[in-house]
Amino acid sequence: MIDLGKTMNTIGFTTSIPVEIILAAGKTPVDLNNIFITSDLAGQWVDKAEEAGYPRNSCGWIKGLYTACLQTEPEAVIAVMQGDCSNTQALMETMQLRGITIFPFAYPYDRSADMLKHEIEKLMRIFNVGWAEVEKVRQDLLPVRQLCQELDRLSWQENRLTSWENHYYLVSSSDFNGDPQKYTEELKNFFAGVKKRKPFKQKVRLAYIGVPPIFTDLYQFIESLDARVVYNEIQRQFSMPFDCQNLVDQYQQYTYPYGAYARLEDIKEQIRLRQVDGIIHYTQTFCFRQIEDIIFREKLDLPILTMEGDKPGQVDARSKMRIEAFINMLKY
Ligand code: SF4
Repeated sequence: MIDLGKTMNTIGFTTSIPVEIILAAGKTPVDLNNIFITSDLAGQWVDKAEEAGYPRNSCGWIKGLYTACLQTEPEAVIAVMQGDCSNTQALMETMQLRGITIFPFAYPYDRSADMLKHEIEKLMRIFNVGWAEVEKVRQDLLPVRQLCQELDRLSWQENRLTSWENHYYLVSSSDFNGDPQKYTEELKNFFAGVKKRKPFKQKVRLAYIGVPPIFTDLYQFIESLDARVVYNEIQRQFSMPFDCQNLVDQYQQYTYPYGAYARLEDIKEQIRLRQVDGIIHYTQTFCFRQIEDIIFREKLDLPILTMEGDKPGQVDARSKMRIEAFINMLKY
């Protein structure tokens, strides 16, 4: 986890952006989502945002991001205005009100390479870095991205990682916990232990699609029912597991910002490859992405459980019952 005391020179962001630019500028990337959800005070941070005036019927992640940003006091925040969240504009404006410097970034909905290049170059000008420096960082990060892919493969092909471990290491690759070198060492040490493990033998193999869960014990609960998540869709996307030629290509292949249909292609391919029995589609209360559930239900051929989380904390009793019934249905 990133040291909250070390805020000088840190650049926060609201969802994955071309992190290579921040690193090329010699600054520390901070994914505010990771700061929020790994904080022991995550629940209180949501309350704080409500006290500041955030409506009760706005998403828990947005409220958490707002307080996480004020707690972290980054030098600036890159806010993804298109390709992530319909609430980001207001989030950005309220952060601005509190004196935070904001730089907007937009993923073009049509996945246009020219538009994406334009946005990337705009960010490069802000951080005063050129293509040569950014490309060097991209190349330097390739080994750690490959390590992430290998870790993911060990999850589904050799069954050696728990659902949570797969989630944790992949979700952390959005900012490499602020320090790619340290994160690489952490991964390498983890690998050494994992290789010696006996494979897990849970009966049910699950895919998890949708934004990362706000629940703290979801993966552990799933495993208590003799099931394991062998595919964490968005978390895997954060690690950029693609063969690509350059930075524009990399962020064009990244599916998350380009809507449900871009994500579907990847989901279909991975659930087939990983021999998944069923899908958990996690949705966040008050999130516009809940509507996309219609598309996933119609276009994916496996049984789907749509579940909803609101505030940080343990899985609620009703969701537990639904998960249990879903896994039992897949078992028998
Ligand atoms: S869960 Fe939905 S509403 Fe909440 S921050 Fe993410 S995209 Fe926005």
